[in-house]
Amino acid sequence: MLLLLSFFADRFYLLMLNVFPVDICMDLNSFCPRCGQEVDRLYGDERKLCGSCYAEKNDLVDLPDSLDIEVCKKCGRTKCDGVWRLKTSKESKINYSLSKYFKDIDAGYDLLSVSLEDKIILQIRKHGLKQQRTVETNKEEVICCECKGFQGEYAKTKLQIRGENLLELTGLIEKRCSTLEEENHDDFLLDKRSTDGGIDFFLSTEHMSQQVMDTVCKEFNVDVDRSYKQIGHRGGQPVIQNTVLVRHSKD
Ligand SMILES: [Zn+2]
Ligand SMILES: [Zn+2]
Repeated sequence: MLLLLSFFADRFYLLMLNVFPVDICMDLNSFCPRCGQEVDRLYGDERKLCGSCYAEKNDLVDLPDSLDIEVCKKCGRTKCDGVWRLKTSKESKINYSLSKYFKDIDAGYDLLSVSLEDKIILQIRKHGLKQQRTVETNKEEVICCECKGFQGEYAKTKLQIRGENLLELTGLIEKRCSTLEEENHDDFLLDKRSTDGGIDFFLSTEHMSQQVMDTVCKEFNVDVDRSYKQIGHRGGQPVIQNTVLVRHSKD
């Protein structure tokens, strides 16, 4: 038995010696099955192609057909992967809007043509490959979080959350706020402050506060009291803050 095993081990070793050089040979003579060109390296998982065929047949980076560029009409800030960045050049606004598509991947690009309201042309670089892409651009004029929060553009709402065991309740409010922020351009959770008796949430719109309160009232046993208060003037008009006092009843 041992003899037999050592016989096979020898054969296996000989076999490896024979096969290995052949493998290297094949690597040196790689032909692209699409264009027939002889190349040093083939790209792709299933169908391996030369660099230029691969870049013709595959997108090097997942990009949308139309790129949304959200620009604040008051201050010129641009939304960059969820954060508002300060007033900048046209190129930077495009770079900010593209940033989420190039996050965590080993790829770069040069902008060959820039326009906020028509299209951009990019020269993408990835793993030694190059690809030119054209993406439509769609500039959206909105009001950024900063301008809403500090300039008092809207009547803001303050949710005063009071009572005991507030962790679950305030957790639900934060969750609801973040889905509303994604759904609506005007909705923002502007601030959250701990006070002696509980937590205050500052919301950008009345609509947001109504949506949040609908969710809270469905899930929790609460007493709600609303009041309105003038918090300042803007352009001769009073700025009104709606305060919603929410008391979490003991269950
Ligand atoms: Zn090819
Ligand atoms: Zn702004």
